[in-house]
Amino acid sequence: MIWDAIVVGAGPAGSATARQLARGGARVLLLDRARFPRDKPCSEYLSPESTRVLERLGPDVLAAVAAASPGRLTGMKVVAPSGKAVVGRFETFSYALPRTRLDAILRDAAEAAGAEVREGLKVEELVYAHGAVAGVVAREAGSGRREAFRARVVVGADGLRSIVARRIGKVHQLGPRRIAFTAHVADAVDVHELGEMHVGQSGYVGLGPIGERVSTVALVVPLAEARRGARFFAELDRFPKVAGRFDARRLVRPVLSTGPFARWSRRPVAKGGGALLVGDAADFFDPFTGQGIYSALRGAELAAGAILEHLASGRGLERYARARRREFFGKWVLERMIGIAVGWPALIERVVSRLARRPELADLLVRATGNCLPARAALTPRVLAGLVL
Ligand SMILES: Cc1cc2nc3c(=O)[nH]c(=O)nc-3n(C[C@H](O)[C@H](O)[C@H](O)COP(=O)(O)OP(=O)(O)OC[C@H]3O[C@@H](n4cnc5c(N)ncnc54)[C@H](O)[C@@H]3O)c2cc1C
Repeated sequence: MIWDAIVVGAGPAGSATARQLARGGARVLLLDRARFPRDKPCSEYLSPESTRVLERLGPDVLAAVAAASPGRLTGMKVVAPSGKAVVGRFETFSYALPRTRLDAILRDAAEAAGAEVREGLKVEELVYAHGAVAGVVAREAGSGRREAFRARVVVGADGLRSIVARRIGKVHQLGPRRIAFTAHVADAVDVHELGEMHVGQSGYVGLGPIGERVSTVALVVPLAEARRGARFFAELDRFPKVAGRFDARRLVRPVLSTGPFARWSRRPVAKGGGALLVGDAADFFDPFTGQGIYSALRGAELAAGAILEHLASGRGLERYARARRREFFGKWVLERMIGIAVGWPALIERVVSRLARRPELADLLVRATGNCLPARAALTPRVLAGLVL
């Protein structure tokens, strides 16, 4: 059988793409090496604009996410190394829920729309025909049996270390190289309706509520420090406004780790055709701004639109690469600037002081990184000067 599309990876990018393709009438096979529900190192906050994309995926999808997300974040607090803080407010609110739940909801939504889902299958190779990608070879967990699947289009939605991205073009590793450790801890002190980002002399901590008195906590440190074997809870105490708020005995899920994560695929569409990349497989810089899930969901909309048109009219997939550039260029610049700035404590100290005096600028920045405003709204000379002068 030749599928219209094989989607590799059932994270937010892959499941959303598969759902949209199946709703558009395509025959879709969605493969994941994991078995769901599966976890993923993440701070588990969905930037506010994600709500609209979830609604377009289907009111049932949004309702399931809302029901699984008792916590609502109304803004972000950024804390400088000295402990000085500023709060930026969203106009609306954002959801925050464990990835085990979010990703299972999206995977089930793809299946409900008609995609065939196979778990425990790790894609190891691409299949080519006449110079174009024409399928994948996957290995079954347990039996080790290899199986080939053919398709008119292969979607690489297989995350940071995407095999599809590595096979269709060069993947650039960008600096600064950081590693993340994430945990769920119950009964943390003073965690309310704000997401919090605490920048330290080296690295940062992101935290926020995810319901049922549990908080998600992510510690992000330079790779060199992670190699020295930093201990999770001892490291949290290095941050003045985090110290003492988390009790190691209240850990409700083992600490997960990931990284280094700054990667960018030169080609989101295979040169000879037949494959494209979406989500972290296409690009990911740094988790500080919390835009990854939104980018995965919005990228899935763009990818599904281009694929459905390709299947219907034979039009090339290149327009997807152009649509991504148009949609995400400002976000890439903003995310990269912030990612570099958080490695520079004196600069963060200055920016937080300025923003504390200019609450309207703090709101604007938080809304731009929350995708409620176009990123270019935060990239004007007036705003940039207001941050440091
Ligand atoms: C520390 C940290 C904190 C973060 N916090 C936030 C946050 O608060 N908010 C936010 O929006 N974003 C956050 N992000 C980013 C976010 O987690 C990602 O951008 C998002 O998960 C991308 O979704 P995805 O579907 O592209 O990839 P993933 O969610 O990684 O899904 C990829 C899927 O592909 C499967 N897979 C991989 N390889 C294969 C293979 N060879 N064969 C078959 N299947 C395969 C995996 O099992 C997985 O299910 C954070 C990231 C980090 C590292």
